[in-house]
Amino acid sequence: MLIISVKRGRWRNKGGIESGDKEFQARRPQAISRDGGRCRFCSVKLEKMHVHHKDDDHDHNSLPNLWTADELCHAVCHVGLLGKAGSITYLPAMSQEDISHLTRAIIVVIARGGKDADDARQLARYLIAKFSEPVTSTFGSCNPAELGNALLQLSDSSYNSRVTTMKDMRVLFNVDVLSKSAGSIAKVLYPKSQDDIVGDWQRIAEDIDAKAGMQA
Ligand SMILES: [Zn+2]
Repeated sequence: MLIISVKRGRWRNKGGIESGDKEFQARRPQAISRDGGRCRFCSVKLEKMHVHHKDDDHDHNSLPNLWTADELCHAVCHVGLLGKAGSITYLPAMSQEDISHLTRAIIVVIARGGKDADDARQLARYLIAKFSEPVTSTFGSCNPAELGNALLQLSDSSYNSRVTTMKDMRVLFNVDVLSKSAGSIAKVLYPKSQDDIVGDWQRIAEDIDAKAGMQA
């Protein structure tokens, strides 16, 4: 299960979430090949995949520690770096992995334009507004950078207990910020028509609401 995380060891090296030394660069293709090119969290296979250090140590480049991940699932592992690309929400009804799939569908529909694009954008905004509200009212913010900073301050044991304390919290992505990936996602996942993606946005919204209501 994909749990919101931060790179607590980030002061050990500089650079972004794909940073690493020559050893990492050499092992990277081996990890992707071992995983069949698929994200170890949500199973998606895209043209551009990331490789995540599972134990949070970017100097630990043994193959079992290197997990293939797509851009979205990987961003959840480094939530402090998300900036305006996402919001923290309380959303037990959907797994973080399913949110990655839904987000990709929304991004592609928006990129294709037309009325469905308006509906998809509206759905994305509705989900963020609705499910970030409990987080904002409880913690004062749904900003991933602020949550990331808070997670960096915790003791190791408090941080590790987020597997329980944060099990119902999810990142919902800002689809406007992520739109530049739409072309390559569409080519790989949705090569045919709009109908392949999803037909009824209203139904999806109601479904998520109903499940969230049951678990609240
Ligand atoms: Zn994934």
